[in-house]
Amino acid sequence: IRAGMDMGIVNAGMLEVYEEIEPHLRELVEDVLLNRRPDATERLVDYGERLKAGGAGAAAAEKKEEEWRRGTVEERLSHALVKGIDQHIDADTEEARQKLGRPLAVIEGPLMAGMSVVGDLFGAGKMFLPQVVKSARVMKKAVAYLTPFMEAEKAALAAAGKATKAQGKIVLATVKGDVHDIGKNIVGVVLACNNYEVVDLGVMVPSDRILQAARERGADLVGLSGLITPSLEEMVHVAREMDRQGFTLPLLIGGATTSRAHTAVRIAPAYRGPVVHVQDASRAVGVAAQLRSERRDAFDAENRREQERLRREHEARRVEKPLLALEEARRRRTAIDWSSYQPPRPCFQGARVLEDVPLTELAPCIDWTPFFAAWELRGTYPRIFDNPQWGARAREVFDDAQRELAILVGDRRLRARAAYGFFPANASGDDVDVYADEARSGLLGTLHTLRQQSDRGPGEPDQALADFVAPRESGLVDWIGAFAVTAGVGAEEIAALHQRAHDDYRAIMVKALADRLAEAAAEWLHRKARADWGYGRDEALSVEELIRERYRGIRPAPGYPACPDHTEKRLLLDLLGGEERVGIRLTESFAMQPAASVCGYYLAHPQARYFALGRIGRDQVLDYHRRKGMDLRTVERWLAPNLGYDPAGA
Ligand code: SAH
Repeated sequence: IRAGMDMGIVNAGMLEVYEEIEPHLRELVEDVLLNRRPDATERLVDYGERLKAGGAGAAAAEKKEEEWRRGTVEERLSHALVKGIDQHIDADTEEARQKLGRPLAVIEGPLMAGMSVVGDLFGAGKMFLPQVVKSARVMKKAVAYLTPFMEAEKAALAAAGKATKAQGKIVLATVKGDVHDIGKNIVGVVLACNNYEVVDLGVMVPSDRILQAARERGADLVGLSGLITPSLEEMVHVAREMDRQGFTLPLLIGGATTSRAHTAVRIAPAYRGPVVHVQDASRAVGVAAQLRSERRDAFDAENRREQERLRREHEARRVEKPLLALEEARRRRTAIDWSSYQPPRPCFQGARVLEDVPLTELAPCIDWTPFFAAWELRGTYPRIFDNPQWGARAREVFDDAQRELAILVGDRRLRARAAYGFFPANASGDDVDVYADEARSGLLGTLHTLRQQSDRGPGEPDQALADFVAPRESGLVDWIGAFAVTAGVGAEEIAALHQRAHDDYRAIMVKALADRLAEAAAEWLHRKARADWGYGRDEALSVEELIRERYRGIRPAPGYPACPDHTEKRLLLDLLGGEERVGIRLTESFAMQPAASVCGYYLAHPQARYFALGRIGRDQVLDYHRRKGMDLRTVERWLAPNLGYDPAGA
């Protein structure tokens, strides 16, 4: 690139960390590629001949393997860290301890040096998240080995006033009601590699515990994470509490539903200290470093200016694009001709539970693309393996995932459970009435759906999920399905075992795989449900077609864009027989436990589509609060991210 190349073709499977290529070989190859000397070709051919003579392939690899073992102990530790190899780490750490005399000297010397190489390579985009987490595992194991020696030394050290000084201390927590974990774990690992002391309070942590920990542990930073939308409000609450209690330290915000805009509009104004949205784990180190440096004030000022801009933008959008009145939006509902429709009739009615779905059935239905996203490797599976920069790393983490998956499938400690059912139903306005039988005499419950209210242009409908169920006036008996799946039974325990063995990599891997298996279970069960419903009996789609959802019908999930109200999960689970029977519990924010779970509705109409609700008006919120019989303030709190107006007293 330095010499002016614009494009090249690489074998991603053969990519190595550039700095790790044997220097002599690298020079010879560069000589050829960059045309640096007339005899470059001959020299490279000579080298190749010599390699061949010396026995190529496996023998060479073995030689390389032995070679790094012949280096000094410092070199070996550095190599082990950069490559994430933990086989010899105890022996090497012990050797270093004897050589350097003190356990702390090993940490501050070769181990920190190795990790800083890792940090630099990561920062320069030459190493990727899975590798960093593997490196962190080696580091943790070395530190675990040294800990007993350090404990013994601690008193003496303290007396000498020579305690280690970490970069800074961060208290991390997933907020109350939420079980999001993977991203936070990764942030913790990445910061720990950069010599931050990380106090991870875990999931579902109430505000007072977070603030108490921050105070007692003398934190320099607080990091909040969350996955579901109610957590956004909880974060506002934590920010407000920090302000009220006089905190000024920086607050970092991360997790799937968080955004720069929400942080700027809702969280930052609640707290006087710096509030910074951290887009993904790889940014965490940079942000933390800025906030701990002399640039802190400049960084903070810049961040505040940007947030001011986002707030103005948010306000302008609201003024420029007013919402339709609810009545107008209703007139623009999805046009479905019910007179020519015959609702298919499922082969059973009511709920069924599948106690133990074999993981072997689910594994082939996994959509791998989001798995790579969890490791912050962008790209679509399987094309991601061809990515010139991280294709090889994607391949590695994928291979590790296959090995772990085989173990999970084999030892049966991780279990999947599913519940699904079909119920006679009719739309009634924007609600869906669910009946006990086809005579529609007894009402099992009413699902409340929300309608888009933005002016989407001529011919474009303003949709609500109720549009896809036949209205009572049509005279038809229609049906709605409900489902809930979890593939996380046992996941926490397995992950905890790995964590205790200082293996964050495997702990994160298990959780990421459980998430994947849960989504796979949703896909697998949906296929089964379409067959039971009749219209999908002869479908015969490949896995790829399944993942692309090339089938009739949808399975919208409460908390997702078409139906953002998480509280609707309550009725959904009740229809399926309740939390106990389904095997999924709801937290106070309606997050599901185990975390690796999905629940939703089945809608069979061929015109049923996913959509995003977007902003809604006060008229709809008032109407919804009456329909649902839920206090207005409470409704506004649950729907906060979708409100197109300022609720009183917010
Ligand atoms: N194949 C992907 C699916 C992710 S979407 C994966 O393996 O991760 C997760 C779930 O959200 C889907 O199964 C579906 O139930 C639901 N969903 C997707 N888009 C939605 C929308 N706009 N509104 C409501 N639910 C949606």
